[in-house]
Amino acid sequence: MSQSGEKGKFPEAAGYVGFANLPNQVHRKSVKKGFEFTLMVVGESGLGKSTLINSLFLTDLYPERYIPGAAEKIERTVQIEASTVEIEERGVKLRLTVVDTPGYGDAINSQDCFKTIIQYIDNQFERYLHDESGLNRRHIIDNRVHCCFYFISPFGHGLKPLDVEFMKAIHSKVNIVPVIAKADTLTLRERDRLKRRILDEINEHGIRIYQLPDADSDEDEEFKEQTRVLKASIPFAVIGSNQLIEVKGKKIRGRLYPWGVVEVENPEHNDFLKLRTMLVTHMQDLQEVTQDLHYENFRSERLKRHSKHLELRRAVLV
Ligand code: GDP
Repeated sequence: MSQSGEKGKFPEAAGYVGFANLPNQVHRKSVKKGFEFTLMVVGESGLGKSTLINSLFLTDLYPERYIPGAAEKIERTVQIEASTVEIEERGVKLRLTVVDTPGYGDAINSQDCFKTIIQYIDNQFERYLHDESGLNRRHIIDNRVHCCFYFISPFGHGLKPLDVEFMKAIHSKVNIVPVIAKADTLTLRERDRLKRRILDEINEHGIRIYQLPDADSDEDEEFKEQTRVLKASIPFAVIGSNQLIEVKGKKIRGRLYPWGVVEVENPEHNDFLKLRTMLVTHMQDLQEVTQDLHYENFRSERLKRHSKHLELRRAVLV
């Protein structure tokens, strides 16, 4: 893929994530240094989060996992597992951290699982604030969470109370991208109905999800069209698979059923490519919104709290 002109297409080439066109989005210096990005995945266990992440970045980020039994799940609190991989495509380095949250939704008390996740997000802001005010400002590693894929079950009739509560708890801290898991379990009509329902509920509850920016008027038509298609596809209904299946002499990532193969990278079968394109073409915007909106919120809250604390101390001393 060339570094320009092709951003209007969904990168479909097998074995290729497609972030080599990031230099279009960032200053050349950042290209040399590498691009840092943190993606968090949240959703009930078993919805296919690890499978999708492996499919997205074509790496086996997760070795065989231990799956806890039902009794254990009740006891379990949410954990945070951050894995970092460095991927390089055409000289462009991406330092990708995927933060997984196993145990989410397993415990009876939902507030407990929220707390751990919120604390993790805040801790990364705190660390950045600390590093930013330190001497070595040039070499700050940015571990702030730039995007959160929130996995919604395809088996419900929309959002569950847990989904609503959680998204409301984090929407001012992180860019939420809602994703319908295991889309191969839905017929086209069911998928469209579920998408509409989820969007309605997101609006009703005042949940703020990540808004893709409109394409600039000077962008080419293809890119504008891509942006329109991506916007219209939210919430992305995706399929993941760790299996390569041979179809017409070509190895493809897919799921084999008695009646045929569901192809992960086929835009007619699901929104996987759209989700990947959204992530890759909007990485810089996701970082900017994190910096300008979420981090600024955090910073000003922190400063307010700090000055209140100082006022109180002064009052006590006088
Ligand atoms: P996680 O707990 O959310 O990380 O879920 P996993 O990725 O471990 O997947 C749980 C199970 O769902 C595994 O048996 C996967 O093979 C299966 N699975 C993953 N993605 C899909 C999908 O898109 N469709 C279907 N039908 N099953 C899936």
